[in-house]
Amino acid sequence: MHRRALVVGLGIAGMSAAIGLRQAGWQPVIVERAPQRRTGGYFVGLMPEGRQAAADLGIASHLHTRNPPGGGKAWSLTRRGAREPGLGFLHQPGDPAAVVRGDIEAALWQGLHEDETGIDLRFATKPVEIDDTGTDVRVLLEDAGGWYRESFDLVVGADGLRSSVRRTVFGPHEHYMTDWAAMICAFQLQEQVPSFARADSIISARAGRGALVFGFADRPPTALLTYRTEDVEKQFTGSRLDRLRAAFSGMDDPVVRHALDALEQAPEFLFDSVHQVKMPRWSRGRVVLVGDAAWCLNLYSGMGATFALLGGAELGRALRDNPGDLSAALAAWESRLRPSVTRHQRLARVKRQLFVPSNRPAEAVRSVVVRLAAAARERRSAKGRAAQASPS
Ligand SMILES: Cc1cc2nc3c(=O)[nH]c(=O)nc-3n(C[C@H](O)[C@H](O)[C@H](O)COP(=O)(O)OP(=O)(O)OC[C@H]3O[C@@H](n4cnc5c(N)ncnc54)[C@H](O)[C@@H]3O)c2cc1C
Repeated sequence: MHRRALVVGLGIAGMSAAIGLRQAGWQPVIVERAPQRRTGGYFVGLMPEGRQAAADLGIASHLHTRNPPGGGKAWSLTRRGAREPGLGFLHQPGDPAAVVRGDIEAALWQGLHEDETGIDLRFATKPVEIDDTGTDVRVLLEDAGGWYRESFDLVVGADGLRSSVRRTVFGPHEHYMTDWAAMICAFQLQEQVPSFARADSIISARAGRGALVFGFADRPPTALLTYRTEDVEKQFTGSRLDRLRAAFSGMDDPVVRHALDALEQAPEFLFDSVHQVKMPRWSRGRVVLVGDAAWCLNLYSGMGATFALLGGAELGRALRDNPGDLSAALAAWESRLRPSVTRHQRLARVKRQLFVPSNRPAEAVRSVVVRLAAAARERRSAKGRAAQASPS
């Protein structure tokens, strides 16, 4: 008989874990608190480890990528609002794939439905109590019809940054969520910033504030506004738009103007505080956390989706490699992932300066670094073009 696992959350980590579990011969049951699958979302750059994980999960061919040719043009705006060549996310080594979050979820969704055994997926359902008896996990589930109890061999908490599985089994959010004293707002633009090409990426970063536009080959860009604040709680009071307008007041450049105006019309947007999740262990008994629930790297790292895919793919591999020994599988899984998660959590502190410099000196250093890197990139491209033009 198949071993049964409850996967809580239908995001990238949850669907990846469900496919990984199935590859290991388990039977996943997915519960998602939302009434339906979400689509769309913001720009995500998928790094090579994430693309490899997608291949391991058998979904690489379903993944629609949207890279502009050559990574597209990237621009930085100066304090006067003038443009100069910049560096985009897609210009990083490793040729990141440009997608929106929904592209990865759509590919995983297709992968989930490929198996003829079907998938036990329950929307508008969430766990209320989780009781690990040592031999199984008894979970009280809540849906529109009321409460019911079911028993599983494993519970996978893939329910995001503010994971209820983590809170229930491991302890309160304050124990694990580190506060980065910063906010983000991400949304889709209907149109590119005037006078820029459709696939351009643009960054306007000042001390404490950053506005970014990510261009795609085949759809309008997405925007990201991020700012530092000492009073995160206050940001959640009143109108979000007023908060953002106040945070970006005085920064009157074309990107900020366009983004704030577009936000007023945006049918939906993500507005949230920035955190990392740090835990000494990602599993306890028969309960394991994956993705943002376990290690949220946050948007500045640019690695969260990559590691959400990797977490699920590697969980499947560890279960396959350790059949019949769940605790050995979970220990092997964690020791394989933890060193790189720790490294990327540290790197995110540095990368944050690229999105939102901490102060004026950091802003100046950032400008110089980006200028030099953009010039070096341009020289490399020119050399490449010259070599192509005169093959000898
Ligand atoms: C603006 C922004 C830009 C980013 N850019 C990048 C990037 O360039 N590259 C990159 O790799 N990553 C990026 N990331 C990070 C990446 O998007 C996340 O790390 C990743 O999507 C996390 O996936 P997840 O499945 O762990 O969590 P989530 O996406 O949060 O999914 C959790 C799911 O669980 C459900 N859920 C929650 N609570 C319950 C409950 N109690 N019961 C049942 N279901 C529940 C939710 O409804 C949701 O469907 C970015 C993030 C942001 C915000």
